[in-house]
Amino acid sequence: MKTITRTASRKASFILFTLLLGIAPAAWAQTTRVLSPDGITYADVRLEDGKLSYSAGYRTVAGRDTADVQLVQDSPLGLYTNVADFTRHLALVETGGKRVRCEYDLWQSKQSHVDKEYEQRTFTVKTPKGHLMTVDFRVGNHNVAYRYDIPMQGETAAIVVTGEATGFRFPKGTTTFLSSQSDPMIGWKRTKPSYEEEYAPDEPINTPSRYGQGYTFPCLFHEGDKGWVLVSETGLDGRYCGSHLSEGVDGLYTIAFPMEGENNGFGSTGAQFGLPGSTPWRTLTLAPTLGPIVETTVPWDVVEQLYEPNFRYTGGRSTWSWIIWQDASIVYDDQVTFINLAHDLGWEYCLIDGGWETNIGRERMEKLFSLCQEKGVHPFVWYNSNGGWNDAPQCAKQRMYSPVVRKKEMKWLHEHGVKGIKVDFFAGDKQETIKLYEQILSDANDYDLQVIFHGCTLPRGWERMYPNYVGSEAVLASENLVFNQHFDDMEGFSATLHPFCRNTVGAMEFGGTVLQRRLNRTNNGGTTRRVSDVFELGTAIAFQSAVQNFALTPMNLDERVTPKFEIDFMRQVPTTWDETRFIDGYPGRYLVIARRHANHWYVAALNAQHEPLALSVELPMLANQQVTWLDDGADGKSPAPHPATLDKRGTLKAEIPAESAVVLY
Ligand code: CA
Repeated sequence: MKTITRTASRKASFILFTLLLGIAPAAWAQTTRVLSPDGITYADVRLEDGKLSYSAGYRTVAGRDTADVQLVQDSPLGLYTNVADFTRHLALVETGGKRVRCEYDLWQSKQSHVDKEYEQRTFTVKTPKGHLMTVDFRVGNHNVAYRYDIPMQGETAAIVVTGEATGFRFPKGTTTFLSSQSDPMIGWKRTKPSYEEEYAPDEPINTPSRYGQGYTFPCLFHEGDKGWVLVSETGLDGRYCGSHLSEGVDGLYTIAFPMEGENNGFGSTGAQFGLPGSTPWRTLTLAPTLGPIVETTVPWDVVEQLYEPNFRYTGGRSTWSWIIWQDASIVYDDQVTFINLAHDLGWEYCLIDGGWETNIGRERMEKLFSLCQEKGVHPFVWYNSNGGWNDAPQCAKQRMYSPVVRKKEMKWLHEHGVKGIKVDFFAGDKQETIKLYEQILSDANDYDLQVIFHGCTLPRGWERMYPNYVGSEAVLASENLVFNQHFDDMEGFSATLHPFCRNTVGAMEFGGTVLQRRLNRTNNGGTTRRVSDVFELGTAIAFQSAVQNFALTPMNLDERVTPKFEIDFMRQVPTTWDETRFIDGYPGRYLVIARRHANHWYVAALNAQHEPLALSVELPMLANQQVTWLDDGADGKSPAPHPATLDKRGTLKAEIPAESAVVLY
């Protein structure tokens, strides 16, 4: 460490000397390698010609020989700000760092207890005028995270970041799994962007996005046999805007800020914060296989809890009338039906969706809340976030925007035993809107309320930062199965894609497990489900959100509609997990995933393909174990349970029919 400091200070005095002479610092390159605790994952951070950059990959070790497998090519770093241009003419002032341990509990995600280490290295650089910036790199096993820290600059204590040079460069031949960012103020009632665009699988790199606005996080890149990289961001709070990736140009994707038109054109596209302050973390999960991506905890490892939970929040299963019965069900009698359904299923929650203020009214809502208390079911209540940023008409409106009104509303909910809110129709990724998310979460905690966001941005580390945060839509979710047959035709694809991508970095409130064949109230019209019954059961394991609003209706309790074993499974399936293991799969084609709740493992093997899948995998966690084995029969249409005992390797060997599944528990 001493050598580095001495070199750095010699450099610094050299630069000072050249500055005094009024000439630019001479070109010199310096690369520092940051290695993960297991010595496999690396990031090389470089300063050359006054510009910071990095590359990243993993090392292969064979005997005494090691070789680098580079996955991210030399990519730019730096910020454009109103204090200084931190992208060029930079000189290294000092480096530092240490081994950082992160140990924490997290009840809302894929792993309940995390204990990991990261190698930290900080690089403090200086502009010609003496403005300082530190890039903080953390390299863990299979994960790289970095952010920019800005100290006070003399008396300057405030900064506006207008853009970033930060990028991610991939070689020719890379393919992508990306979801386009939409144009602002388009779509239904001008509610976009809301992270509801389709992912295109295995697309060639540099393919233009659908709207020319780049891509939303997370972004998955595939480099053939070399491996996979998942790019995302975390640690976003009200002190920054949400970012996405630009269009790809020559393999380079850079951090892009919100579009001017978001939030009805209101608010800046940049970010403003007080000094000292930091940007969110840019994260990369990289490995030769998909396991480290499915299992990554990097979104939570590098962030901190921002406040103490006011209440012992718990996850659970919820009924949700709106998803199949739609708007017409937001009436008193239908809500009674779904509260009773939650009670009959032994589920914890019941979601009362949009439209209640007009169709039910506050007085009768209080009667529903009393019924919930009587039945031991906790209500979640829907709110429209607007506001002045879109035309979404559903009520209750204008209750979540003003802090004065919001607190009054939350007090009312709290007094009637309501345990959660679902807030819909946000306005994009501007800092304005990110502040609103944070204010809603923070106020809700004061009234013991958990929060689900819908029509919204991607959560970025929020499970740990905000302990009453439960889930976000930010995906083309189950409502689309009702709206349009195309999404039923694509259901298998989506279900086997998101566990590798959208759902790896944050809770995904999909609202799945449809057990009717037709998606209308009477099961005789509307769209038609294509995937099998056991496939639907498997999504309850594959999709992770600590509160799951499942799409079951009272009809599913009728054995002529739904076999009893399926409802038995849904009565006991958990929604919170102690451990998650990737077993096998390929995004959009098939997925084998295992999750543990307490001492009990649940395995879903989903085949999205239009032909059978001959599967043979090992499930060491189920070696020599007796399990209940669910499948759809050889024709994919005869769902049944079977008792089974796995061999000493835990072999799961099955021919899974097209758009069908095997579930073990
Ligand atoms: Ca939606």
